[in-house]
Amino acid sequence: MNRARRPLIAGNWKMNLGGPEAIELAEALVKASKPCANVDVVICPPFTALAAVASEVDGTHVGLGAQNLHPKTSGAFTGEVSAPMLLAAGCQWVIVGHSERRQFFGDTDAFVAEKTQAAIAAKLAPIVCIGELEREREAGHTLQVLERQVNAVLAILAANPEAPMAIAYEPVWAIGTGKAATAADAEEAHAFVRKLLASASETLAARVRVLYGGSVTGANARELLACPNVDGALVGGASLTVEKFEPIFGAAHALTLS
Ligand code: PEP
Repeated sequence: MNRARRPLIAGNWKMNLGGPEAIELAEALVKASKPCANVDVVICPPFTALAAVASEVDGTHVGLGAQNLHPKTSGAFTGEVSAPMLLAAGCQWVIVGHSERRQFFGDTDAFVAEKTQAAIAAKLAPIVCIGELEREREAGHTLQVLERQVNAVLAILAANPEAPMAIAYEPVWAIGTGKAATAADAEEAHAFVRKLLASASETLAARVRVLYGGSVTGANARELLACPNVDGALVGGASLTVEKFEPIFGAAHALTLS
């Protein structure tokens, strides 16, 4: 399949695998993803494991991302980690505005925009997460929510259309529930996001990878990734073992050959 953008498969380990098991999984993933040369595979361990995992993946085809950042570069922000610190730890990527940050830690659209700006300024590639709650979908407000969340970061992304970055469409009701969006619903949301990006910059729309996230598994990856506007996946639970993650980046690679 002639894909417009190189697939990106990112694993969000959340608050799991902070010790030696992080290094073991990173090592196994470097091996398992070697044949998948047409796909960018990125892993996002917890902060405490970043430096150790960086030594494991450094110089390989597996990228490293963090799960959050603070927009300031340094200062009196107890417990926070800045973009330059993540770069120093070996990251190239950072997840911004994950729905768990929005739900449990008060990340607003404005704060997500500040974090996105800070990441880009530091030359870290943001994976900006957006997505509607179940009640918002049921009320027919999905596209309105996506428009609000994309518009919060659109000027920042459009000012840097060549910078590496991604948007992850993650319907909140699909995260960790085993209830993924249908391919048709995902494609509708992704095409809408692409249109919003194009309204600011055609270059941006052509370059930004829009990932799907929410209960992606080896069983549904191929169908979701085959959608023309789905450029990859942000994977939570199924990224925690090589047995579950490999079929997902394997499916992305297979699609590039079909
Ligand atoms: C996520 O948290 O970003 C996610 C998509 O989780 P899961 O794959 O477990 O639904």
